[in-house]
Amino acid sequence: MQDIISEPNHDVSITQALTQVHHRINQACTSSGRDQTEVRLLAVSKTKPLSAVNQAYQLGQRHFGENYLQDALEKIEHCMFGDVCWHFIGAIQSNKTKTIAHHFDWVHTLDRLKIARRLSEQRPDNMAPLKVLIQVNISQEKNKNGVALADLDELVAAVDVLPNLALCGLMCIPAATQDVDQQSHAFNQMTTTRDRLNKSYPQLTELSMGMSGDLDSAIACGATMVRIGTDIFGARNTHAEQ
Ligand SMILES: *Cc1c(COP(=O)(O)O)cnc(C)c1O
Repeated sequence: MQDIISEPNHDVSITQALTQVHHRINQACTSSGRDQTEVRLLAVSKTKPLSAVNQAYQLGQRHFGENYLQDALEKIEHCMFGDVCWHFIGAIQSNKTKTIAHHFDWVHTLDRLKIARRLSEQRPDNMAPLKVLIQVNISQEKNKNGVALADLDELVAAVDVLPNLALCGLMCIPAATQDVDQQSHAFNQMTTTRDRLNKSYPQLTELSMGMSGDLDSAIACGATMVRIGTDIFGARNTHAEQ
C-alpha cells in the first residue's frame, strides 16, 4: 500500500512546500541561536515556469535564482512585478556576461577575474552596481567551478576595485554528501574564510550556501542565503537542464 506521508515533494503544492521550507529555516535558526532575519531564502526557479515564480511571489517570496540564461530571460522579461530580485547562480560563459550584467541584481558564481572585468564593463551606468559573490571550490573537487581557497585572496582584491561590481560575499556548492559532519566541515571553512576577509573588506558579509539537502547544517554554520529549488518547486526534469 502506498504511504501517503512519504509522497515526493513535487506532489505538494508550492504554497505548502514554501511554508515547510520557512519552517525548516526557522527551526535551524532557533536551534543555532540565530535570528531568522539573518537568513535570506533564495527560491531557485530554474526550469520552472513563470507561473511558479508568480505563485511564490504571492506568498511573499522576492528573491529568485536562475541558472540557464535563456530560460531566465523569458521569465525576467515577462515578470509583472518590479520588486523581484533576480540572482544568477549558474556557470558563466564569457559570451553571456553582457546579458547577465543587464538583467540580474546578483551573481553568485563569479570565479575568474576575466568574467568579473567583463561584468563590470558591461553593467549599464544607470543601474546599481551588480552585487557579486565569489564561488569557492571548497571541497577541492576536480572539474568543479569555483576558485581554490589558495587563490581566493588575490581574486577578492582584484574584484573589489572594479567600479560596477559590489563584492558582497562568498558562495559554495560543497561535494554532495548526507554526512552532516562533512557538510559542516565545508560550511565552517567558508564561515572562517568570510570572517577573515571581512576584517579587510567590511562589505563582504554574505555566505550563500545550503540547498534543499543541506540547508539545516548550512544555517547552523552561518549561511546568510540559502538556495532552495526542489523543496519549493518540486523535482526538476533533468532534460531541461542543458
Ligand atoms: C539548482 C541549484 C540549487 C537548488 O538546488 P536544490 O537541491 O533543488 O534545492 C542551488 N544552488 C545552485 C547553484 C543550483 O544550481
